[in-house]
Amino acid sequence: MIVQMKKGSTKKEYEKLVEFLQAKKLEIIDASSDEMRVFGIIGDTSSLDPSDLYAFDGVKEVTRVSTPFKKASRSFKKHDTIIELSDEVKIGGDQFVVMAGPCSVESEEQLRIIAKAVKKSGAHLLRGGAYKPRTSPYAFQGLELEGLKLLKKIGEETGLKIVTEIPSADLLPLFEEYVDVIQVGARNMQNFHLLKALGKSTKPILLKRGLSSTIEEWLMSAEYIMAGGNEKVILCERGIRTFEKYTRNTLDISAVLAVKELSHLPVIIDPSHAAGRWNMIEKLSLASLAVGAHGLIVEVHHDPEHALSDGAQSLKLNKFHQMMEELEKVSTVLGKTIK
Ligand code: PEP
Ligand code: MN
Repeated sequence: MIVQMKKGSTKKEYEKLVEFLQAKKLEIIDASSDEMRVFGIIGDTSSLDPSDLYAFDGVKEVTRVSTPFKKASRSFKKHDTIIELSDEVKIGGDQFVVMAGPCSVESEEQLRIIAKAVKKSGAHLLRGGAYKPRTSPYAFQGLELEGLKLLKKIGEETGLKIVTEIPSADLLPLFEEYVDVIQVGARNMQNFHLLKALGKSTKPILLKRGLSSTIEEWLMSAEYIMAGGNEKVILCERGIRTFEKYTRNTLDISAVLAVKELSHLPVIIDPSHAAGRWNMIEKLSLASLAVGAHGLIVEVHHDPEHALSDGAQSLKLNKFHQMMEELEKVSTVLGKTIK
């Protein structure tokens, strides 16, 4: 962090600030000249908020030069983190991991039909919401515990690992019992109480990017989980809110590149909640593979017209199959594996 003092600021003001920083075990490197008093702060500045320093008289400008996240950062760990879900499924390396399934778990029959089909087409994980965060309180809210039980049952039947969204920290013991990967929804990305609880979980966490969150805020949320002791975090770009209305959200595909530069954590894409339209999913999925994402989470339904949520963005079973074939072709060219 670099601090520039105002012209005409006093030595006393400078010393007061330096004393404050030294008390935090930070080192000061003075780089002042005759015209300007300026100094660098060296050490672990992650607990220091640059804007707090403006409370001191004489401060003109504070600039952060290192990231505010530590454990999630590339400088903390040079090698990519690879999260092993089984001998066959590893997220963060050369494998392109596909998570597929309905938006919501609706019934045992529905989940079994979709799970069997996506498994056959080559998906690695089964997705499905048991607790649904809906914009309207009158919309389908999910089967809740019954949904978790169905996910576990069908996951065991098909050999697919399960990923599903946790709505609140009090449900963590249930999720530890029923789920393989715990999803944090976009609306909960900055639910810090939940993130802290997940820091104590033994399960990998799929952390979706918030609707209007910057990449730095997203990585700070990952940091919350990691600071609690759980370093198994998978980031998920799912589209952000912009002025554009044609699509449900705007897929920020460059976020994958940014995250891979800034962090060692795996990053996947959710084209379904980004586009909001099933006919864009295949091409966005191919783009995700090409840009270097470590996988996808995608909504699939055997009868989207009658889905209880997100039918318009759900791929039919044959379309999902076709998409997997296309992904496989492109993955060979790119030196990635899908199976
Ligand atoms: C979901 O995955 O079903 C979901 C609600 O996603 P998001 O949190 O990204 O809106
Ligand atoms: Mn959905």
